[in-house]
Amino acid sequence: MARTRLYKTDPRVLAIAAALVTVTCGAKPERATTANASTSHGVDVEGMDIHIKPGDDFYRYANGTWLARSEIPADRATWGTGAMVAELTNKRVAELIQNAAEHAAAGSDARKVGDFYSTYMDDAAIEAKGIAPLAPTLDRIAAISDTTALGRELGGSLRADVDALNNTNFETPNIFGVWIAQDLTDPAKYSAFLLQGGLGMPNREYYLDASPRMAEIRAKYETYLATLFKLAKHPGAADAAKRVVALEERIAKSHGSREDSADVLKSNNHWSRADFDHRAPGLDWTAFFDAAGLGGQSTFVVWQPTAPVGVAAAVKAVPIATWKDYLAARAIDRAAPTLPKAFVDAHFDFHSRTLAGTPALRERWKRAVDATNDGLGNAVGRMYIEKYFPPAEKERAATLVRRLIAAFDRRLDGLEWMKPETKQKAKAKLAVLKIGVGYPDAWIDYSALSVVKGDAVGNAERAALFAYRRQLAKLGKRVDRGEWVSDPQVVDAYNLPAMNAMNFPAAILQPPYFDRDRPEVMDYGAIGAIIGHEISHSFDDQGALFDADGKLSNWWTKEDFEHFKEQSARLVAQYNAYKPFPDLAVNGKLTLSENIADVAGLAIAYDAYRLSLNGREAPTVQSLSGDQQFFLSFAQMWRSKIREAALRRRVLTDGHSPPEYRGDTVRNLNPWYSAFSPQPGDKLFLAAADRVSVW
Ligand SMILES: [Zn+2]
Repeated sequence: MARTRLYKTDPRVLAIAAALVTVTCGAKPERATTANASTSHGVDVEGMDIHIKPGDDFYRYANGTWLARSEIPADRATWGTGAMVAELTNKRVAELIQNAAEHAAAGSDARKVGDFYSTYMDDAAIEAKGIAPLAPTLDRIAAISDTTALGRELGGSLRADVDALNNTNFETPNIFGVWIAQDLTDPAKYSAFLLQGGLGMPNREYYLDASPRMAEIRAKYETYLATLFKLAKHPGAADAAKRVVALEERIAKSHGSREDSADVLKSNNHWSRADFDHRAPGLDWTAFFDAAGLGGQSTFVVWQPTAPVGVAAAVKAVPIATWKDYLAARAIDRAAPTLPKAFVDAHFDFHSRTLAGTPALRERWKRAVDATNDGLGNAVGRMYIEKYFPPAEKERAATLVRRLIAAFDRRLDGLEWMKPETKQKAKAKLAVLKIGVGYPDAWIDYSALSVVKGDAVGNAERAALFAYRRQLAKLGKRVDRGEWVSDPQVVDAYNLPAMNAMNFPAAILQPPYFDRDRPEVMDYGAIGAIIGHEISHSFDDQGALFDADGKLSNWWTKEDFEHFKEQSARLVAQYNAYKPFPDLAVNGKLTLSENIADVAGLAIAYDAYRLSLNGREAPTVQSLSGDQQFFLSFAQMWRSKIREAALRRRVLTDGHSPPEYRGDTVRNLNPWYSAFSPQPGDKLFLAAADRVSVW
């Protein structure tokens, strides 16, 4: 999830055909009894490629046949375990939503869910209305005549669509994004965090990188904007598109880098309301904050302090007419999925085909489910868990989390390098971790959200505004550590570093992550490693910055932090050496926190699995030892195919390493060497001294 979430990109799945395998090296698995990874209960032996030496390429040893036989569905950018589980979950969710559309009682949340969905599905009505639903917005933008009105329009566009710590969501296409969260200096209260935004492409690199590939994407973006303008009958479409791209490039230059955005110490900048006028002159900040519903706030946390300076200077320097083009482009782009087919196709062509390499638009019902999840996610999630997440599974998952925490606690005891005072603080922090399993204790009250049948554009706008106001309403209230940052039907896991909390949604607590019908050791290798990953985040390079209350205060001794950084540097080098393309390597620094969490999570899960056996050996199953099942379960969890454009984007923008290298995390654990006997000279082989052990 998140900075700390397990995945960033939306994952989705696959079925595989049966195949006979010849055993030549490594583990000697029997043929699996079933061929489909999503329904089998055990190691997917047929998905392995045992002709590959595990020591050379463990990921392909575990997944080679699956990779060779799987195809990414045409409407997707990636396909793998997470995607398969998400696909199954989405089908179930779709049935629940469709049922609500047909049968839900008037006035209920289910009725709203059903109406939201059926309105999105009614493409004939959407086609008939044309651009009319967006006309009030476009007319308001067209009427802007001075900087006060411009400030008001920019401020009114703010939404709660960023989250710097829990969701690694550092920017938004709106001019700024708002995140209401526990203040990092005074954790007893909520603060309003302002994050950078304003770009229609994923981040600043897409505007500033000089490579031909990026230049081509920029040209396609300009064409896309011109198409939107033409469809919306905006005057001078081609020139307007050119001006918008130039303005966005100017904004991009003021943006903080992805790495700086992930650096809390560079980002916890408190600005008084007056600071905006002094440090970032040019924008009518009073009009801006009033329109944003933040006029009463005396301080803000400015995550990327160069951004407001750049935007305000651009407001001063760039003609209002260009800003009006820009605001119109943003509004049409945002609404395009709920407008007639020509808009939907243009939006897909740029955002999915060009930016992610996806060949085909997803079927309408799938997009409608996603949109409904976006708008009323908690109401949908409540229906989901009532049907698909029984209390016994919640309890079984909670038990597993407790075992992982206990294993980590023991690991802390055994650490030789950590000073006793740091250990004590780590254990204190561990003791008060707030664990959320399956779903939140309290559900969102949607009574203030109006869903209007037949108004797809308005429904999406009102839902985003409802979510924004719900966040603003937290200001001035007591911090609620039980709050969730995800819906239960999302296949992901989250660490909330400032809240000292973790969320494990119900949808990730299902096979093949978590499966009551297979050897328990495989749960430890899969969901156990994910739970360990999230626990590690509370104690990693960023977790070390937050004390047990969530205050930004480094609780490590200097020596301990130095040791940690030294181990980290070796991990940076290990991941920098991974090259998904000859011209593009993994960024070991950008992905460091996640890589540490992967290594630590796997180590903690291994300990917890061994502790659960009380010194016994796990039974051999499918001719695989317990340890072999553990590591194969882990590497098969990371199986994934990804299109080139999507992988390149991911390497540039995502804090997580590509799944293949996450699967190869095993090379840092000593028991993997006993389980699969890799030899010096094998590509993944690390001498004992080079294996990174952070915890
Ligand atoms: Zn993470």
